[in-house]
Amino acid sequence: MKCAICGAKLHGVSNKGSKTQKRPTRIFAGVLCHRCVRELVTIKTRIKNNTIKEEDVDPRFIPYLKQMK
Ligand SMILES: [Zn+2]
Repeated sequence: MKCAICGAKLHGVSNKGSKTQKRPTRIFAGVLCHRCVRELVTIKTRIKNNTIKEEDVDPRFIPYLKQMK
């Protein structure tokens, strides 16, 4: 399995911790690597704060960004 954005290998089960994951970004588990998820969260925050615009974002992130709403 590979990250849909950067192509990095995803290491199967990463939820060794508690089953009640509080982070909403878990929706991308098994789809995106943790780096891209983190990047996505950063991008979302920046857009929210008007630091960057959606058109400045790497287009590969856009579909996932929209799913986060
Ligand atoms: Zn990635």
